[in-house]
Amino acid sequence: MDRQYDLIIFDWDGTLMDSVGRIVSSWQESARSLSLPVASDDAVRGIIGLSMAEAIDALIPGSDDVTRQQFRERYRDIYADPTLAPTPVFDGVEALLEELKSQGHKLAVATGKARHGLERAFAHSGLKHHFVGSRTACETASKPDPQMVLELCREQGIAPSRALMVGDAWFDLEMGRRAGSDAVGVSYGAGTEAHLQTATPKAIIHRPLELLEWV
Ligand SMILES: [Mg+2]
Repeated sequence: MDRQYDLIIFDWDGTLMDSVGRIVSSWQESARSLSLPVASDDAVRGIIGLSMAEAIDALIPGSDDVTRQQFRERYRDIYADPTLAPTPVFDGVEALLEELKSQGHKLAVATGKARHGLERAFAHSGLKHHFVGSRTACETASKPDPQMVLELCREQGIAPSRALMVGDAWFDLEMGRRAGSDAVGVSYGAGTEAHLQTATPKAIIHRPLELLEWV
């Protein structure tokens, strides 16, 4: 079967890694421990995938630089607590990545995580070798700006129209659209299916291996 895409770009949290619950609890614990406003589960789910700076602006409005820095460090310590089990990837992710590569697709990651966080997740998951490239929010503009997708395409010499963005948040799909790429939403992460539909994705899938039907 002819390949429709030469490059498939995945969001990380909530798309490949089952980390939404851990992010929500770490965020709330960080806020509580610093006596900052504690956002609801739904509110935290809504910022997963944005850069940390944008997330803080949204959930702790009016923070000064000191507070921002304290929160950032506290969150990092709590999320990466070495006494906790590493967060797992979703069932079927490894098989999906293997199959896509065997079909000739190149794979990449575009995430709102910082570079150190992505590298840690790469190391814990053992998935890094599948990807030809990655971009993080600390290196580019935050989603839904198309910069991450455009840079990954340029680096691989692939037209954005030959790339597919896969993500669990509206801004993942909107980033793909703005770059001129197709997008597929995943319903098993942070975003609701109704919200994902507003970015008019090509499809919404309900488990990782369903992606094979759309590439
Ligand atoms: Mg996500």
